[in-house]
Amino acid sequence: DTCKALERRGISTTYLPVGKDGLVDLGALENAIRETTALIAVMLANNETGVLQPVDEIAQIAKQRGIIMLSDAVQAVGKMPLSVQKLGIDLMPLSAHKMYGPKGVGALYISSRLSKSKLVTQVTGGGHEKALRSGTLNVPGIVGFGKAAEIALDRMSDEGHRLAALRDALEDGILSLGGAQLNGNKERRLPHVSNISFEGVEGKAFLIAINKELAISSGSACSSITTRPSHVLTAMGLESELARSTLRFGLGRSNTAAQVDFAIQYVKDTVEKLRKKRLG
Ligand SMILES: *Cc1c(COP(=O)(O)O)cnc(C)c1O
Repeated sequence: DTCKALERRGISTTYLPVGKDGLVDLGALENAIRETTALIAVMLANNETGVLQPVDEIAQIAKQRGIIMLSDAVQAVGKMPLSVQKLGIDLMPLSAHKMYGPKGVGALYISSRLSKSKLVTQVTGGGHEKALRSGTLNVPGIVGFGKAAEIALDRMSDEGHRLAALRDALEDGILSLGGAQLNGNKERRLPHVSNISFEGVEGKAFLIAINKELAISSGSACSSITTRPSHVLTAMGLESELARSTLRFGLGRSNTAAQVDFAIQYVKDTVEKLRKKRLG
């Protein structure tokens, strides 16, 4: 949407394809670079599939060509170790509430390599935040964000292993149903996200039935008000009907093995019930 807004101002953009596994094609990326390319933006971890993009390799390509590299790391920060220096990223947005911090506060990492003159002031006024975003700072939000980051870092390793084990159990249980497929690269991904499509169920009825007992969406919260299939899944080659009958499971700090067992049974029962109904 930001790219579309830029296009309306006459800036030309290229949208890169992804493979079936959700990974950006590096060859296509290199081919898309032009003399005038100013910025490459590739998210670090996809919010619907958890797939981790080859951001380090992309940043290297960007650096060689003198292009700014932006990577949205909102979904990954606090869930996995990452270093902006090692990855070679110039701009990295973060959000507090995705790591159990307060809503309404985020951050933008700006590499010291990047000339400040390249950044446009978002809000003019008293010159706060290096004159990029004026306005009195949200101190409780900032302190809460800092504390949330501290806790996330402290628990990251243990929590990462715990969530990956819960996710694997969830996937094994649900996929034993048959007619269900896991979306996205299975190796390169975050520990707490799982994206599964179910054949033979109608998307809307499925979501309504599932949400009686489980808090699960078919895609991202940002587009939950639309009935369009997920653009992430259709870009990966899923037919729109299958994309609509997809669940995006997100596991978190409060989830337990007992809840995962319940979720497996509930999803299986619901899918079987809906499939039977559909067959009449
Ligand atoms: C949640 C999310 C955002 C939006 O951040 P908000 O602070 O909720 O507006 C952006 N990118 C990704 C990958 C996200 O998961």
